[in-house]
Amino acid sequence: MAVPQRRISKTRKRLRRTHFKLNVTGLVTCSNCGAMIKAHHVCPKCGFYAGKQVLDKNGKLMSEQKIKKEAASGKKSSKKVAEKKASE
Ligand SMILES: [Zn+2]
Repeated sequence: MAVPQRRISKTRKRLRRTHFKLNVTGLVTCSNCGAMIKAHHVCPKCGFYAGKQVLDKNGKLMSEQKIKKEAASGKKSSKKVAEKKASE
């Protein structure tokens, strides 16, 4: 069996291991809340995916009809907010 001729010194071992490190990959900012999330994953903080509310407040998956309703009401509510701001 092959055996190392010399023991690797602490320095050589540590120098080699300076390259052993993990790098953070595939993180993007959520379009809704701005949190750092995994790419192509539902945001765990606000439950948004591809610009739509996909998870409800309890973290459960919403039905497609509900998602459509939320999207429609969201547009209306944003208009109301804009109107309120303009009136103030
Ligand atoms: Zn989010």
